Amino acid sequence: MRGVSLQNFITGLPKVELHVHHVGSASPRIVSELAARHPAAGVPSDLEELRDFFTFRDFAHFIDVYLAVVDLVRTPEDVRLLTYEVAREMAEGQQLRYAELTCTPYTSVVRGIHIRDYTDAIEDARVAAERDFGLVLRWIYDIPGESGIPAADATLEYALEHRTDALVGFGLGGPEIGVPRAQFAEHFDRARAAGLHSVPHAGETTGPETVWESVRLLGAERIGHGTSAAQDPDLLAHLADTDVVLEVCPTSNIATRAVDRIEDHPLRAFVDAGVAVTINSDDPPMFSTTLNHDYEVAAGLLDLDEQGVADLARAAVAASFAPEDVKTRIRGEIDAYAG
Ligand SMILES: [Zn+2]
Repeated sequence: MRGVSLQNFITGLPKVELHVHHVGSASPRIVSELAARHPAAGVPSDLEELRDFFTFRDFAHFIDVYLAVVDLVRTPEDVRLLTYEVAREMAEGQQLRYAELTCTPYTSVVRGIHIRDYTDAIEDARVAAERDFGLVLRWIYDIPGESGIPAADATLEYALEHRTDALVGFGLGGPEIGVPRAQFAEHFDRARAAGLHSVPHAGETTGPETVWESVRLLGAERIGHGTSAAQDPDLLAHLADTDVVLEVCPTSNIATRAVDRIEDHPLRAFVDAGVAVTINSDDPPMFSTTLNHDYEVAAGLLDLDEQGVADLARAAVAASFAPEDVKTRIRGEIDAYAG
């Protein structure tokens, strides 16, 4: 019964999320609305059919789902609807009070949405979500690594020339294999010089050297995943000493086979080494997970009780780039809830 009560505790716990993708958060319900607007895309709008399509099978199928959703985001209104509805599900289902949503504007701009219209759409949704759901949103723009330097140049331009005050971070996603971090060093230098925080993905599908490169060459303050850092005690010590935070996404790691079995997940090794960790859901509907579920998985891996779980939520607040007044308010809510 302790399991059920911890599950209920997690469900009601006020939380923040730092590693969650914009398009990757589209649920079957949201995709159904987008598919109904664009029937020519060939994606079913029937909810049951979509739920079946979304059920995680393997990594190749996940990519099919992801690309199908990318292809449905064709107009600024699609961007606005996606963002606003994702925010609704974050607030209502996961008790999120603050999220840093990783957006990949490049994939929308190459599909014909002007960056100004894209920015207006996400900003419109952000203001409405804060008003309607009490959810504070901030943006991280990430470079889709597979699209190389042109995508990095474009993403930097969007970040610097079309900046909104809600943009807080600059990231790097997509495949790691064959996409060396070093080639993006200058982009990250310029983004950081403009006051953006460095939050690349690293060490998810490649070894610890990619995490080292991200720290040394990209100035990473937080690392997306960082799973393979567990193989290198010197790296763990360095991350702990320099307060680099890992954005751990346990269910995603199993789905993508970054980790073979959940009992092999390095989360505990990170904590034992003194590395700051946060728990995240990455692309939740596409990995058949939720942030609540990933907190449950983390609680199992770390053998946490309610106070331990509340500390995970506090760690995410601390590692966020939220305004100080927002941090203070959410900390107060967690304290009041956790007792
Ligand atoms: Zn990610």
